[in-house]
Amino acid sequence: MSAHPVTRDVTTQAGLPACVEVDLDAIRDNVAALKRHAGRAEVMAVVKADAYGHGLVPSARAAVRGGAGWLGVAQLAEALELRRAGLEVPVLSWLHVPGQDFGEALAAGIDLSVSAQWALDAVATAARETGRAARVHLKVDTGLARNGAWGDTLDTLVASAARLEAEGTVRVVGVFSHFAYADAPQHPTVRAQQERFAEAVAMVERAGLRPDVRHLANSAATLTNPGAAYDLVRPGLAVYGLSPVPDLGGPEDFGLREAMRLTASLSQVKACPAGQGVSYGHTYTTAHDTRLGLVPMGYGDGIPRAASSVAPVQVGGRRLTIAGRVCMDQLVLDLGPDSSAEAGDEVVLFGRGADGEPTAQDWAAATGTINYEIVTRLGARVPRRYTEAGSR
Ligand SMILES: *Cc1c(COP(=O)(O)O)cnc(C)c1O
Repeated sequence: MSAHPVTRDVTTQAGLPACVEVDLDAIRDNVAALKRHAGRAEVMAVVKADAYGHGLVPSARAAVRGGAGWLGVAQLAEALELRRAGLEVPVLSWLHVPGQDFGEALAAGIDLSVSAQWALDAVATAARETGRAARVHLKVDTGLARNGAWGDTLDTLVASAARLEAEGTVRVVGVFSHFAYADAPQHPTVRAQQERFAEAVAMVERAGLRPDVRHLANSAATLTNPGAAYDLVRPGLAVYGLSPVPDLGGPEDFGLREAMRLTASLSQVKACPAGQGVSYGHTYTTAHDTRLGLVPMGYGDGIPRAASSVAPVQVGGRRLTIAGRVCMDQLVLDLGPDSSAEAGDEVVLFGRGADGEPTAQDWAAATGTINYEIVTRLGARVPRRYTEAGSR
């Protein structure tokens, strides 16, 4: 599984200031690997937030090719875009606000998460108006204290859902929840949340409901807690080949590989004397006569400003650290006095660790965040280019 085609199209980013290369075969293969981790459970590939920055529709299609039977998104607009692109697998959308057009969602055959009474009422109204039973998943808060219903609200919600199902207005297709500490599988809340989830499922069944799918596991739980797989797992991060538990293992330890490679073209290379302060605030000073390389990417593209003077990049196979402040559109590298790099040369900001490139995880560690944020924050100004070696 770890062998991957080195048929990378080196011209993908030629002529572009910067480029996000997305290896769709990696996404496909990662989903296949997650299916093996999930045992008998199905896989819902989570493609919210533009597929964690990888591009919603191409990533979703690659995930389906890898065996994802479901797709998951946070927002309705994301679900509608998947349908407009012709994706036909079940799609669950789970974060809504009053006033949203649930009728449009039902017409598009989208499954809706319901975590509050207002949402169930609004979905039921839309179902009556459109004459089509709404497929809902009841979202239970088992201890994350975020989205979901608990306590008396949950009791009432389940009772209302049972009434609405009996009258044919909704069909309760799923019951689901989300972990607070999936990345620490031994944490006591993990077991406690699974127990509460089992109680919630039992309550739903006592109300006469028979949901098709119970689902609780995100990427970390899918990879480290097989007992939480139930009928369906909901991995996001791992679909893109990043480890949700970097302290427990890297991508290759779980049979995954990074799908995203972020590159830029050097825009300028120039000689610079020793003792020169570099970029805003002169927070970096050249130690000797050297050559500076200008990278046309900055925080306007989603490069964290916190990467200033700490994040790794690679030029011509050599590992460097960003020199001084990351600006809105640009950052600077101290290429060293002997560098033969010139304008137009490729700079790898992050890519695949197994190929010796800096990784999104390296960037996360350097900037005090998580790999999720590094890939998701890349902006629309950076074009996505998709590579696909085809069938294996
Ligand atoms: C984002 C999200 C996921 C996926 O989480 P990962 O940690 O990326 O696997 C699953 N379920 C819900 C409810 C989410 O919000």
